[in-house]
Amino acid sequence: MMKGLGASEGYGIGRVLLISEKNLEYTPKEVADTEAEIMRFRASIDKFTKDTLAQAEAVRASVGPKEAAILEGHISIIDDPFMRGEIENLINAHQCAESAVEQMCQMFIDMFMASGDELTMQRAADVRDVRDSVLSILLGVNEVKISDAPEGTVLVVKELTPSMTAGIKKDNIVGIITETGSQTSHSAILARAMEIPAVLSVPNALAQLSTSEQVIVDGFTGDVITAPSAEVIEEYSAKRETYLREKRELELYRGKPTVSASGETYELCCNIGTPKDAGKAMEKDGEGVGLFRTEFLFMDRSTLPTEDEQFDAYKTAAVVLKGKPLIIRTLDIGGDKEIPYLGLEKEENPFMGFRAIRYCLKNRDMFKSQIKAILRASAFGDVRIMFPLITAVEELREGKALVEEAKSDLRASGIDFNENIPVGVMTETSASGVIADLLAKEADFFSIGTNDLTGYTMACDRGNSNVGYLYSPFQPSVLRLIKSIIENGVKAGIPVGMCGEAAANPMMVPLLMSFGLTEFSVSAVSVLKVRKTIAKWTKAEADEVTAKVMAMTTEKEITDYLKTVV
Ligand code: PEP
Ligand code: MG
Repeated sequence: MMKGLGASEGYGIGRVLLISEKNLEYTPKEVADTEAEIMRFRASIDKFTKDTLAQAEAVRASVGPKEAAILEGHISIIDDPFMRGEIENLINAHQCAESAVEQMCQMFIDMFMASGDELTMQRAADVRDVRDSVLSILLGVNEVKISDAPEGTVLVVKELTPSMTAGIKKDNIVGIITETGSQTSHSAILARAMEIPAVLSVPNALAQLSTSEQVIVDGFTGDVITAPSAEVIEEYSAKRETYLREKRELELYRGKPTVSASGETYELCCNIGTPKDAGKAMEKDGEGVGLFRTEFLFMDRSTLPTEDEQFDAYKTAAVVLKGKPLIIRTLDIGGDKEIPYLGLEKEENPFMGFRAIRYCLKNRDMFKSQIKAILRASAFGDVRIMFPLITAVEELREGKALVEEAKSDLRASGIDFNENIPVGVMTETSASGVIADLLAKEADFFSIGTNDLTGYTMACDRGNSNVGYLYSPFQPSVLRLIKSIIENGVKAGIPVGMCGEAAANPMMVPLLMSFGLTEFSVSAVSVLKVRKTIAKWTKAEADEVTAKVMAMTTEKEITDYLKTVV
């Protein structure tokens, strides 16, 4: 077995086709007739442009517009006036076209690779792709015909380039193995866009595999199984069938409302960390954003983001959501989320220390600038504010008072915002669960953060393997708190959602439906799965299961039982 990085999910069972690199060797020579050489270079660019446009058209039809745009971007690399000008200068200095093209492309490749930035480094791969295509034309080397690959082919390449994808017929290529690439590389993006299982970064794959040998590609684990026995092939064929069936079934839930089998409707939102994720949430059919973790805007930099920078980020997400709800959680730092430039003191007990709302209420200027940025974004969508780690009613009151202060500042400056912006509480501490009735009177909504609620209630750090066995939202104590939070919210007439990981757990879903939860907020990839799970249950069935669960004594009893009903 060989091991790589599972970068595009699914199982591919097929026969290897090695795509070795083209032989682009040449002997650099001095040219006397520089004008003729420039004409030869220009003709090669014309052919490259024509070929690439045709490839882009094919990719647009078979894969999608974004992938076609990558190819069109290749034309602008070689068409860049500086690039073309310098290549022609080198030819005028009597270098041959091959050598001039290679030299200039190498300069850009070195520059991009030196940046250390993953995205910029990806551009080096594009320049390499362009260089090889233009050199092939100049040298008259024929492209390898991936389009001729027979059905059931597993492509093995050093790197999957955008120009290769033009030749890929989705029905024939069942898997891809590359020697380079990461989760965010073009190879990964292209493989995922084509929905072909792919394992990247398999060292020496080309040398280790031979054309026509049988392999299995596991795009989940990154395993490449060589010389599989009949038994293993059967096992993976069954896995593949189940995966494809479930995928087809999930697609049936796209574009549909989130409704139980007995007709109750729920809101199914996504958790995001950046404005870009808002687009992903929409792509995955989320009905809004139930948790925007704003700390990512504060991380990986050396100073606080300004109010304007934050406004841009929140507004971008609001605009992408087109009027769908966007719950923005104010800064939740401390605990496991460090922001070095804030200079927080090292504490004995960081999870119980000076963090989240506690820190923000003591750093009012910083907090107010975040609240103003959120308020300003509220003019562009259904934006809501949520405070993390609330443990006492005073914290909510103080936070709300600051929202009022921020509103009057904006009013005085004539800046638009939603006067009635809802302000909610993230119920993620045991204290907030116990006083949910008191908080519900003063909050506009609740969202249950089970990740922290479980840890605080069980007095256990999930990162500590000695006590990890206690960390479960199915502990009777945690379930009782969840129930109480939801019931108190319902009694006070405010919406209650859940944005902790437990919201996507199929065993938790019937309990939440029975308790009266109205909104689920999950990672974008879980949207369709959760919609399907909700659709499976009637309210009466969920109530019956929940009554049994709530009468049980131990976590094991509860999870053993729930496993039998999901
Ligand atoms: C939670 O605590 O459940 C939660 C969603 O917030 P975070 O994971 O960001 O602490
Ligand atoms: Mg939390």
